[in-house]
Amino acid sequence: MQNAKLFKPVKDLKYICEFPDCEYSTHHRTQIHHHHIIPVERGGENKRRNRIFLCPNHHTKIFIPEATAGIHAVRGEDSIELKGWLQSTAGLVLCYIDQDGDEQYYEKKKWVI
Ligand SMILES: [Zn+2]
Repeated sequence: MQNAKLFKPVKDLKYICEFPDCEYSTHHRTQIHHHHIIPVERGGENKRRNRIFLCPNHHTKIFIPEATAGIHAVRGEDSIELKGWLQSTAGLVLCYIDQDGDEQYYEKKKWVI
């Protein structure tokens, strides 16, 4: 078992919802949603910096102004508009527009996968 430390057992992988202040986490890949901050159909990359992990509940809270159909076309009273990840000296910070239209910054929890 020389390489045991190099490979994390799948059961130890944990996916955390990255919506501000959400405590949701799961070990099941199918229970976390990968959301593209800039939609792929509008040229968004499939890279991690253009994606955010969201729990099923918070995935419905993402508002995309350009969206004309689907869950992201609806601005609810608790919806947010994602602007992207920023690199700071403290690590990655999520930039988003809150329900009041104000720009907010949220320090990312540690990376999981
Ligand atoms: Zn969540």
